[in-house]
Amino acid sequence: MKVPFVTFKPLEKELDDKLRGAFERVYENSWYIEGEEGKKFEEEFAAYCNVKHCIGCGNGLDALFLILRASGIGEGDEVIIPSDTFIATALAVSRTGARPVMVEPHLSTYNLDADRIEEKITERTKAVIAVHLYGQPADMDAICEVAHRHHLKVFEDAAQAHGALNKGKRVGGLADAAGFSFYPGKNLGALGDAGCVTTNDDELAGKVRALSNYGSDYKYHHVYQGYNSRLDELQAAFLRAKLPTLDKVNEDRRNTARKYLEGIKNPKLILPHVDWDLYTPVWHIFAVRTSNRDALAAYLNDKGIGTNIHYPTAMHNQQAYQELGIARGSLPICEEISDTQLSLPMYYGMKEETDYVIQALNEWQ
Ligand SMILES: *Cc1c(COP(=O)(O)O)cnc(C)c1O
Repeated sequence: MKVPFVTFKPLEKELDDKLRGAFERVYENSWYIEGEEGKKFEEEFAAYCNVKHCIGCGNGLDALFLILRASGIGEGDEVIIPSDTFIATALAVSRTGARPVMVEPHLSTYNLDADRIEEKITERTKAVIAVHLYGQPADMDAICEVAHRHHLKVFEDAAQAHGALNKGKRVGGLADAAGFSFYPGKNLGALGDAGCVTTNDDELAGKVRALSNYGSDYKYHHVYQGYNSRLDELQAAFLRAKLPTLDKVNEDRRNTARKYLEGIKNPKLILPHVDWDLYTPVWHIFAVRTSNRDALAAYLNDKGIGTNIHYPTAMHNQQAYQELGIARGSLPICEEISDTQLSLPMYYGMKEETDYVIQALNEWQ
């Protein structure tokens, strides 16, 4: 049996008519930017996330950057982020001119450890970005408690967690603003690049919208030196076709995750920890850890099972971030994760593939 790391085919087959219909609708209208599809998607996604505002934009990195820029964060400021995240979280901060300050995650949940935030706060710190890594909500209550004590803004990087619940509340509305990515591989994916910002803050929403559209509040009237980062009509139409299936897709991923959690019995593997009473994760990634990770990846590959590593090089060890001067070894939890983590196949529509992966893992010596 062949089990890819990810495939979009099962969902695309189910939604074939709807996705083709979405293309037809936009093409018939010949309206490609700033139209009805984008507006409707924003309304529908805001309602889904239980927030007042959703502002479509070009991608997830832009969404985070626009939030920071609209919040007045820039040169000389510091923004706390987890050491273990996709590099986009850090790049959004750097692009404003501010400095990303990395805080270690919990080894059990991979999410930002709120107890380690305070020691990194300086008079320059302006905000904390909590990442719901792998689709599991970060401990927002604890993070917000520390941040608010120091009058810091809290933003969510929800790029991996569309639809996840934190104590019954959807991510995207848990703090001052959230950035989402609709990169095709995300739980809600477009057929290309796309992203959005969600917030309950009217003023921030207005600024983000203006900044994303040349700093313009109405046509040819420019308040800010803005950017061009808009959600185009085709991607909005595709997202509208997919949004109604998001809960079903996430439930399917949860079922696969439960099967993995119950079925994998190999003592050499460390499984992800979830506090199911508090969180409803959406399993963007199902991560296991083992000291012999590369051997496990090669073994699974021989069995036709695709895997991936999230992320093989910790950000502070990337060439791009040598300027931060964070020595190798000084963020040991993050490094431990990048040395031992392996992501198993996880996508909508896994059936006997899950059992095959479990059996292969249990037979690994
Ligand atoms: C994917 C991702 C982003 C960036 O999204 P793009 O749409 O690719 O720009 C940001 N943060 C995290 C945690 C991500 O996984």
